[in-house]
Amino acid sequence: MSTRKLPFKKVLIANRGEIAVRVIRACHELGVKTVAVHSTADADALHVKLAHESVCIGPPAASESYLNISALISAAVATGAEAIHPGYGFLSENAAFAEICGQCGITFIGPKERHMRLMGDKAVARRLAMKHEVPVVPGSAAAGTNVDEALQSAHEIGFPVLIKAVAGGGGRGMKIVHQPEEFARLFDQASREVEAAFGDPSLYIEKFIARARHVEVQIIGDSHHNVIHLGERDCSTQRRYQKLVEESPAPMLSDATRAAMHQSAVHLGKSIGYTSCGTLEYLLDPATEKFYFIEMNTRLQVEHPVTEMVTLTDIVKEQIWVAAGQPLSFKQEDISFRGHAIEVRVNAEDPYTFVPSPGLVDGYHPPGGLGVRVESAIYDRYRIPPFYDSLIAKIICRGHTREEAIQKMLVALSECIIGGVTTNQPLLIKILENPEFAAGRVHTKLLDVIFENEKQKTAKQLVGNAK
Ligand code: ADP
Ligand code: ADP
Ligand code: MG
Repeated sequence: MSTRKLPFKKVLIANRGEIAVRVIRACHELGVKTVAVHSTADADALHVKLAHESVCIGPPAASESYLNISALISAAVATGAEAIHPGYGFLSENAAFAEICGQCGITFIGPKERHMRLMGDKAVARRLAMKHEVPVVPGSAAAGTNVDEALQSAHEIGFPVLIKAVAGGGGRGMKIVHQPEEFARLFDQASREVEAAFGDPSLYIEKFIARARHVEVQIIGDSHHNVIHLGERDCSTQRRYQKLVEESPAPMLSDATRAAMHQSAVHLGKSIGYTSCGTLEYLLDPATEKFYFIEMNTRLQVEHPVTEMVTLTDIVKEQIWVAAGQPLSFKQEDISFRGHAIEVRVNAEDPYTFVPSPGLVDGYHPPGGLGVRVESAIYDRYRIPPFYDSLIAKIICRGHTREEAIQKMLVALSECIIGGVTTNQPLLIKILENPEFAAGRVHTKLLDVIFENEKQKTAKQLVGNAK
């Protein structure tokens, strides 16, 4: 490793929050200087304090700051940053941004534009997966805006179906359709929602797989034809199609299926010559253990730490090395999987309505101890601005076994104090205490079951109190 040298001395981080802090730390460990960018609402943010330099790039609205390509490029040029790390969200999957970085002689720390474009269109990604013999969810190949054609496909696939956005992300615009009669209305509604969210109204249809599990495979490649996997993560526990709890390895999975998923992901990565970290997301039918590709995320993911904790790798540093044209620092056979890691996303939001609750953090005590990792950008007396994602901290616990990781997480969550704002900690505790979760019988509707249990408990209590 000592023979390797990074061609850049300064990196600009085009993001905010915990992920900006995560990337800044990796850069500093590599001896690279950092430039933070921030909106006027983020002048006091932790990432600004930790970086060597900072540049204000615009007003609070993300569209005018963190998504403002010309402001970001100007900041990089003005500070002499040779590379930009986009984090996740914002411009991390924006091929035009990567292209502009290239044109300005700035290294984009991410995949090739070609791969971002291919996978950014989920219908194209689906076809590509099929071409490389990666199984996909039964669904219409024809994507578009024509409701009659879409309804025809829905009949062919069989109800229930899921309407999804071609340009989708973050679970936006997804609609389950149980009956043909409701199809046209929901299609129209989805189309309007995704047009507003992504500027592209195109939709596609998939068979809705009930009680599915979300299992994804982390891959990483370099520009020397190496593509390897770092195992899988189960991210089934979700709210509104967004992940809340993630873990690695996936529980209750046969070795044969696990290996087949890894192999399928590496095969697709190798077939396209993928050169950064990326994730292939699959739905797994727990009854049959059949798995289906749903999309590839061409970026670092929120839940990457669980993989790091069981493989003892640093995915962000590795992503920087490969963006600099260096080979991966490990081969597939160097990677072993030790123990079990779980991550929870602590959001500043009402645990049951998911309504965001920004505001002043009044008292902060993060958990600690053996195998407990906290990725966060908050501090005592920090004011969480109302303009961005509600994710304020990730707690990651690693144990020798899944049971130990769960126990550690319960202790960590009970210790963690985030005063002044409402967080989803009580819900996270309920999830970890749930017997189905504890048994590893996770699926994407587990939260609905937990909510239903809660409602019944409350109703019983009310009846009890009335007696
Ligand atoms: P992951 O698979 O990494 O968990 P998510 O879908 O949860 O991915 O998205 C990660 C973050 O990226 C979210 O917290 C959100 O802020 C952001 N994000 C994802 N997709 C979009 C999008 N289409 N538009 C804006 N932000 C997005
Ligand atoms: P996004 O781009 O918003 O992340 P995905 O295609 O990755 O969209 O799907 C997000 C989540 O939606 C999945 O993790 C799963 O919970 C659910 N989902 C997606 N496709 C299906 C399907 N065909 N059947 C059942 N659930 C699905
Ligand atoms: Mg997804």
